[in-house]
Parts: sequence; C-alpha cells; structure tokens
Amino acid sequence: MLPAFSPLGEEEVYLTESSGRYLSRDLVAGLDSPPFDNSAMDGYAVRASDVALAEPDAPVRLPVQGESRAGGPLPGDLEPGAACRIFTGAPMPSGATAVVIQEDTDSDADGVLIREASHQGKHVRARGSDVRAGTILLRAGARIGPGEIGLLASQNISRVQVYRRPKVALLSTGDELRALGDPLEPGAIVNSNLYVLTDMLHRLGAIPVALPAARDTLPEIESALRTALEADVVITMGGVSVGAYDFVQEAFKNVGIEPRFWKVRIKPGKPLAFAQHAGKPVVGLPGNPISAMVTFEILVAPCLRKMLGDPQPHPQPVLARLRDAYTRRPGRVEIARAVATREGDEIIVALHGQQGSGSVPSFVGINALVILPSDATELAPGTQVEAILWGSGLMGSRSPFDTIG
Ligand code: AMP
Ligand code: MG
Repeated sequence: MLPAFSPLGEEEVYLTESSGRYLSRDLVAGLDSPPFDNSAMDGYAVRASDVALAEPDAPVRLPVQGESRAGGPLPGDLEPGAACRIFTGAPMPSGATAVVIQEDTDSDADGVLIREASHQGKHVRARGSDVRAGTILLRAGARIGPGEIGLLASQNISRVQVYRRPKVALLSTGDELRALGDPLEPGAIVNSNLYVLTDMLHRLGAIPVALPAARDTLPEIESALRTALEADVVITMGGVSVGAYDFVQEAFKNVGIEPRFWKVRIKPGKPLAFAQHAGKPVVGLPGNPISAMVTFEILVAPCLRKMLGDPQPHPQPVLARLRDAYTRRPGRVEIARAVATREGDEIIVALHGQQGSGSVPSFVGINALVILPSDATELAPGTQVEAILWGSGLMGSRSPFDTIG
C-alpha cells in the first residue's frame, strides 16, 4: 500500500498554526542565536584576567562601572580593571570576557569584592553558540512540536512551508447504521466506527470528511463512492467480506476503482481490501469495530503519515513480556489489545481477555498492540513479544522522580 501514498503539495502556514505539521523544506537559520553575547547569571561582567588571582581569602576589588540588564540600554565599553553589574540575559559590555556570579562577590560603596577567579567565557552565552546564521535549523520531514516551535520562534520565523494535509473521505456502509444521537429502532446500531476513525485521523493530522452512511445497495454505494473520490484518500467501512450484502468491492469495480489486493493474513482484520482509482488510494476496512481500528492503525496510519510528510512513518515496536499464558490457533499474525506497564527493567503486557473483533469495550484503556507471530500456539507467561505502544503509551501512578529520591 505504501507506494500508493505520496506527500501532496506544500502550503505556507503561520508558525502558531503549524503544530503537528511536517516541514516540506529544510529551514535555514537567518540569525545567530543567541543574537548577542549575554550573561547566563546575575553578577558582574569582568575581564577574566583582572580576577585571575581572586580567592575567598584574597578577594580582588574592582570599581563598578554601570550596569547591563535584559532589555535595558546597551552598556558602554568595559574599562580595564573595572566590573559592570550584569543580570541574566543582559548584553555583555564590550571588553568583558567573563561573569562572576553574585554569590561569589560582596559589594560596598567602593565597588565590588570578587571572591572567586573566573576564566574566559565563564557564565557567558556567546553570540551564535546555539545556532549560527546560515546553518540548517530543521530538515524537511521534521514534525512541528513544542521544541521546533521554540526554535523557529527564537529565529523570528513566523511562517513555514509544510505539506498539505490529505482529505480522507470516510464512507460507512450498512443498512443498520445510524448517526450519533439518532433514534435506534430495533436492529439499528450507531455508526461508531465513523467517530473512531474521525478521531484517529485528527490525531494523525489528516482531515476527515465524513460522508452519510450508504445503505447496502450497489447504486447507493456507487454514488457515495463517486462523491468520496473527490477526497485525497477514500476509506470505506464494512461490506467488504463475503456476505450476500457485501457490495463494496463490486461497487469499486463499477466506478472504475481497480482492486489491488483483498484479505490480509492478520487477525483481526482479514477482509481488508485495497484498491486505486487513477492512482488515488481506496481502502476498504472491515466493518467489525476492532478490525477497523486495528487495520487502520497497523496498515493505514503509516501510509497516511507518509502522505503527511513523515519520512519514517512506521511505528517502532518495543520488546515486552507476556504476563499471562495465551493459547491461540496458528495461521495468521495476531494483533492483540493489551495493557502495558513497566516492571523493573521490563515492559509487561497483559492481553485483554476479550480478543474478539466485535467487542467495542475491549479497546478502552488499551495502551499497546501486541504482535503475535503467525506460527505461535502455546505462549507461556514471560514469552518475549513485540508491542506497539498506543495512545499515550506507558503511564502510571508513580512519578519519575520517585526512583531518583
Ligand atoms: P460488515 O463488515 O459490513 O459485514 O460488518 C461487520 C460487523 O460490523 C457487523 O456486525 C456490522 O453491524 C458492524 N459494523 C459495520 N460497520 C460498522 C460501523 N460503521 N460502526 C459500527 N459497527 C459497524
Ligand atoms: Mg455490513
């Protein structure tokens, strides 16, 4: 599927609206950062050579020549043998080479007593020491988060070029489906997959476009598909299996969507279909709620991350150990819902007791998808497995500082 998904064009957005977006170009620093030599501490700016011999018992006395504070008037040149009162973030006076922290000084009417030697550059944040103008700040493909926003803001970059966010049409199929809040007559259920996938798309940074659910008839599905094909990606839900009312694949063919493959050897999620319309990706997800979520997360989300501009779109599994024994039938790779916790040096995964593909409550509280090899049968407690951390990952009641003491 992955080759069918490519980044769309780029667009310019304000930095303040760029959270979660992927840069489409390398960004070069326009400024030195810090932009001027400044003090890292409150104290006195000096020439290091003037205080080289200072000791607690043999302080050096210097006259104080003015002050420099953050945002204040620029200080004049520092004369040899003098000190300048200085505060954190304030520009260094020209001639000064070090800062002596306030705690190592005493001041009186005649000047300041320096009680510790300092060396060149001590407590000075030199111009350009973090970033030199002209160097690469961030590479294309970087995702904008708090750290990136801080860096770009400090460079006075207010707009960035990012990849466009794909519009993803969500087309549910099924006579039984009702929109949230609609009355539920006997035999009807809420179209819960629509709301699940809308949330999952939001989290990725794609734009969900919810279409009205189509009933299980060829004409209705075909006409909904034609509308859906206006989006960048089409995702259908349900009707893709072998039942007498599963019309989705036939409807694909009738509107010129060409099948690529059908059925994947994973559990849950076997009846997934992948197809393309003039290159545009069309994914037929199974309707069972758990199958839809798992196949979306494992197979579709990496493709969409690639389309969003992520150069490394695959989730990296961690190694974990099974808490409990698990017996299963071999044949398909199984993607099991689990709760992961840290115990000592290890991640322990407790598989949810209900691994059926229709059980909606079994995804609540889950923070890991455990990948069980297709040939595994009897899995003993402690068996090492791969797990994809999901949602907010490992969280718990212990603060990270508890172990530091
Ligand atoms: P299907 O894949 O159409 O055979 O549906 C399989 C099961 O998933 C059936 O029990 C459907 O009622 C249910 N289902 C299908 N689509 C949805 C949906 N959008 N939301 C919730 N359940 C669904
Ligand atoms: Mg159906």
